[in-house]
Amino acid sequence: MLKPDGKEFQSRLLGWFDENARDLPWRRTTDPYAIWVSEVMLQQTRVAAVLEHYDRFMRRYPDLHALAAAKEEDVLASWSGLGYYRRARLLHKAAKVVAEELAGKLPETSVALRALPGIGDYTCAAIASIGFGEAVAVIDGNVERVLTRMLGWDEKTALLPRLREVAAALLAKDRPGDFNQAMMELGATVCLPRAPLCLQCPVQEQCATQGEHVVAERRKMKSQRVAYAFVRRVPGGGSGKNLRRGIPEVLLVQRSRDASLMPGMWELPAIDPETALPERRLLDVRHSITVTNYYVTVYGFEPEEERALLEAEGVRRWFPLPELVEIPLTGLARKVLKRLKALPGYVTPAPLRIEKLGPEFLQWK
Ligand code: SF4
Repeated sequence: MLKPDGKEFQSRLLGWFDENARDLPWRRTTDPYAIWVSEVMLQQTRVAAVLEHYDRFMRRYPDLHALAAAKEEDVLASWSGLGYYRRARLLHKAAKVVAEELAGKLPETSVALRALPGIGDYTCAAIASIGFGEAVAVIDGNVERVLTRMLGWDEKTALLPRLREVAAALLAKDRPGDFNQAMMELGATVCLPRAPLCLQCPVQEQCATQGEHVVAERRKMKSQRVAYAFVRRVPGGGSGKNLRRGIPEVLLVQRSRDASLMPGMWELPAIDPETALPERRLLDVRHSITVTNYYVTVYGFEPEEERALLEAEGVRRWFPLPELVEIPLTGLARKVLKRLKALPGYVTPAPLRIEKLGPEFLQWK
């Protein structure tokens, strides 16, 4: 069982972490700024998705000053694909506060870090312990799960303040950053939510439940059908501010700056799924946001058909394809544009339905 001083627990956990920690780019640095960026990206986002974006973001904004000096829309564009854009806005805002009010020096304690925009209990403890060696315990969903199972507490009724006390008592004060990362790693790779791999667990002997815990009920997802228009033109003449001969363009709509979700981001024009013509159907994708599965159908339109879409309400703009990587796109727009090969980086898993529209419809492929 778990001993109050936790020495044996620390030694087993850290020994396991030293041998088994995944090699992740943010674990190869001690730069608190880089650790901060990675911790913000990792909130509510899978490691695999963060890996796709972290290096590129760090190349573009290698230090706090580069980030603070950037325009918000550029930061959002670099964040495109990670979702939850509020995180990027607050990261940018906090970088500006540090650059302008703290002489560019990131605070070194969890308490001082907590005062910055977008930095909560988890993030300040993670940066302070991993980046500055402060002996402060981190509690995230993974750590909560490991602790409640180790202690034999009910996951649904375990109180966070009590978990914090236990986490603080168990913390290895000589290696707080590694200990915190090891706890999170154990939850992410061994003490899995549904089927924990107890036989591979370094602290199995000390665990009160050893896999016999109560499994939380699966969250119910809602479903919603939505449809979008993929309107493109390939300039070969004509006029227009952005019309550049030979460079294909896509029509996008900007979400309202007051929208509660993804304000100011660009997306494909929405259309009514009930009235869309089946022969225009181009692509089906599923997209999940929090508790909703969106079943999305994208319909293709020829240039001469776009009039109604062009005249609908909202800010609309034609974007030349090379510019799409530079603008803040919603996660769904990015997914669809990649699937249609209007953005680089995606191999389509199934043939597109282009028979009715003709292969020239996607002629930039
Ligand atoms: Fe989790 Fe099983 Fe390890 Fe207990 S023994 S901490 S339930 S993986």
